[in-house]
Amino acid sequence: MEKIKMTTPIVEMDGDEMTRILWKMIKDHLLLPFIDLKTEYYDLGLEYRDQTNDQVTIDSANAAKKYKVAVKCATITPNAARVKEYNLKEMWKSPNGTIRAILDGTVFRAPIVVKGIEPCVKNWKKPITIARHAYGDVYKGSEMKIPGAGKVELVYTAEDGSETRELVHAFDGPGIVQGMHNINKSIESFARSCFNYALDTKQDLWFATKDTISKKYDHTFKDIFQEIFEKEYEEKFSKAGITYFYTLIDDAVARVMKSEGGYIWACKNYDGDVMSDMVSSAFGSLAMMTSVLVSPDGDYEYEAAHGTVQRHYYKHLKGEETSTNSVATIFAWTGALRKRGELDGNKELQAFADRLEKATIDTIESGEMTKDLALITTNPNPVVLNSEDFIKAIAKRLQ
Ligand code: NAP
Ligand code: MG
Repeated sequence: MEKIKMTTPIVEMDGDEMTRILWKMIKDHLLLPFIDLKTEYYDLGLEYRDQTNDQVTIDSANAAKKYKVAVKCATITPNAARVKEYNLKEMWKSPNGTIRAILDGTVFRAPIVVKGIEPCVKNWKKPITIARHAYGDVYKGSEMKIPGAGKVELVYTAEDGSETRELVHAFDGPGIVQGMHNINKSIESFARSCFNYALDTKQDLWFATKDTISKKYDHTFKDIFQEIFEKEYEEKFSKAGITYFYTLIDDAVARVMKSEGGYIWACKNYDGDVMSDMVSSAFGSLAMMTSVLVSPDGDYEYEAAHGTVQRHYYKHLKGEETSTNSVATIFAWTGALRKRGELDGNKELQAFADRLEKATIDTIESGEMTKDLALITTNPNPVVLNSEDFIKAIAKRLQ
């Protein structure tokens, strides 16, 4: 069989633990037999990040800007325990955070919908994609405990030294206070990433904040979205037959529950944190979520939404059998291959991505799945496969 040719490489970011094991299996069984795979390889495994003082993460993000398409394996974000376990020189930052800062992107997460893994919300028929603004608000807030009576003010000191003040509260006893910020440029990037992704995936875009209560802060988000939409996207949206819709966050939540899905829901940072966990658990499992970072320049980095599945890795190291779900990692690859195909006008590569996704879904729908799915499926007789046999079952269908 003639292998599918590629013209431009995909940036390949390898990772850690169980997902690193799955990564190799996916390449060996599902990609290399069918594609003349061209990648520029970066090893983001923790050992090599440590060896290079994390330079490899920065290099990989810059490569993603150069080639526009990257696929990333889950990676360890070190904490104190990991510093000890891997004898690290430093507690390196989260690779996802580093890459996101360089690409200035927005993360879009969507469930992979299969028959037999039914969402808790009965009327959800199509995926709901959450777009989370990844900068500022309470995540970059500063806080104070107020010990007793006194007033708290917001003070803005302009470069010329002039001051503007706003009373937060005149306390007559102990309390708490919080200051947070955002930056117009970041909100603009967020808006453009959302509008571009909606056009890309031909889905409606919803955005919601609490602008009736937060008349300056949240209202600025609403205004920036509206302005950019009218100036740059309204026509493109109507040509594509999709809509942009703004509403209050509480109204959005009520509508989401009653909807059948099939749209993108853009959320401020905190709302996105909370709502993405709600949507993913209601749809089934983190192992069935795709995640893509889209920059305002149109660079794409695909990954799985889950972590490195540490517990399974330790079983694997002991020589015990694992049944780790590789679907999200497979879909990270298909996302990247399809996007590469689109950008290069490579129809065969796009068709291969479609076939691999179909083979994966068909395998699960026919009853062959990993243990995590067998526990939640409505299929009465699931066959539980180990990590490698599941991937081999997909390969068999693909052939
Ligand atoms: P995790 O790797 O997502 O795993 C948490 C648990 O969820 C697992 O123990 C497993 O449950 C289940 N699970 C997750 N993915 C699964 C899959 N593909 N197949 C089957 N079960 C799956 O999260 P974590 O244990 O909190 O984090 C482990 C490491 O991942 C950490 O070092 C963290 O820094 C890193 N992390 C990386 C990313 C990323 O790179 N994007 C994201 C999150 C976390 P059972 O054990 O009950 O089977
Ligand atoms: Mg969260």
